[in-house]
Amino acid sequence: MADDVFDAIVVGAGPSGVAAALTMARAGLDVVVLERGEYPGSKNLQGGVLYRQPTEELIPRFWETAPLERPVVRQSIWLLDEDGAVQVGYGTREWAKPPYNAFTVLRARFDPWFAQQAEEAGAMIIPSATVTGLIKEGDQVVGVRTSLEDGDLYGRVVIIAQGVNALLVQEAGLGPDLRMDQAALGVKEVLALPSEKIEDRFGLEKGEGATIELVGFPTRGMAGNAFIYTNKDTISFGGGAILSQLVARKLNMSELLDAVRMHPAVKPLLEGAERVEYTAKLMPERGYRHLPRLVGNGVLVVGDAAGFLNPIHREGSNMAMISGKLAGEAVVRAKEKGDFSARGLSSYLEALRESFILKDLKKIQDAVPFLEETPRFLGVYPHLLSQLMREYFTVDGRPKEEKRRKFWNLVRGTVPPLTLVRDALRAWKVMGP
Ligand SMILES: Cc1cc2nc3c(=O)[nH]c(=O)nc-3n(C[C@H](O)[C@H](O)[C@H](O)COP(=O)(O)OP(=O)(O)OC[C@H]3O[C@@H](n4cnc5c(N)ncnc54)[C@H](O)[C@@H]3O)c2cc1C
Repeated sequence: MADDVFDAIVVGAGPSGVAAALTMARAGLDVVVLERGEYPGSKNLQGGVLYRQPTEELIPRFWETAPLERPVVRQSIWLLDEDGAVQVGYGTREWAKPPYNAFTVLRARFDPWFAQQAEEAGAMIIPSATVTGLIKEGDQVVGVRTSLEDGDLYGRVVIIAQGVNALLVQEAGLGPDLRMDQAALGVKEVLALPSEKIEDRFGLEKGEGATIELVGFPTRGMAGNAFIYTNKDTISFGGGAILSQLVARKLNMSELLDAVRMHPAVKPLLEGAERVEYTAKLMPERGYRHLPRLVGNGVLVVGDAAGFLNPIHREGSNMAMISGKLAGEAVVRAKEKGDFSARGLSSYLEALRESFILKDLKKIQDAVPFLEETPRFLGVYPHLLSQLMREYFTVDGRPKEEKRRKFWNLVRGTVPPLTLVRDALRAWKVMGP
């Protein structure tokens, strides 16, 4: 190994890599982060919800200094059919004040600030630096090959935090590439709208925010959803669906979103808002059973690269941050013992098992397969619910008994009642709290 050796080399300055670097730098380790983008956040995409609690585990009271958009005071789920919307949601004044529950963020603003916290703790962050491969001595990872002029960098540990296209995970022999049914394609637009209009349209107090998840019609029953999140003076509008389903049904996520934009419940919210940004990115949906190996000799995997994403509860960045933190702590312990083998780094696995990350991924492991195998769940049921609510709220002189019979005939003609009950129970089991 070369003389100039970092304690840790982190590949990627997303939330997982920066959290790992911050944790290790605070413990006095010599850490370098390589980021292929021009600056942290320049290549990153997130719908935009950042939960407060996991972020605060790294930076107490971060909301006082971080560039956040709005605290989220109301969260809703809308079940859409072609022209109707059944809307459920929850809001509380508690979420409008410290310590808050969640914020909307724009990663191009948030990530540079987050990276700065790691730099201030002592980590070195090098932008426009692409890692092109791993350097091994026997079966021990000892460094990385880079696009930098100086070329190779050596480290006692390499943390793979490179996001969903984790080629280094394969190179390290820790797991195969994602299959098309293990990835969702996400698309996001940022739409400019004056802040007062946002507050008017979404019924918000000044400076406060709301989130809406849209299911059913947006993905034509495929596993996925669309979303609308309010920022300071923009709206994040986007959606995603499982890649293999999009391909099989020859559907295009952008076109699906164009239809959502014209939906009568959505149109008044987005009308006149001007598109200022458009991005597309994959999300890992490996599921618990197909996670890669997370630890090897001299190497750890965190965040999206590890497949840590909970699509049901919209949790990616928090799993990224906490896995980065746990990986950083494991490296600190490995350094104390002077053992950077897989065994020396294995406290990362123990910590992951104790944390919400592996517990939650296990809990929801059948959710995406259920949605893929049961297209009626997001296809037929939102329509039935919409029809039910329409009958319920429409007063047209017909007796209620006749309406009830009409609705049940519609249900029976669409799906056998036993199947409906079975689907509801299964959905509760795989996606419920
Ligand atoms: C449409 C969409 C909506 C989402 N909405 C939400 C949401 O609302 N809330 C939420 O919590 N999560 C959301 N997510 C998920 C969230 O964005 C990810 O889980 C999170 O960004 C993962 O962080 P990470 O650090 O693991 O990876 P990333 O943020 O992807 O960071 C990886 C970094 O590594 C760099 N990199 C890659 N390869 C190399 C290389 N070879 N050399 C050097 N650098 C490299 C990249 O440039 C990048 O900066 C969403 C994702 C999508 C696609």
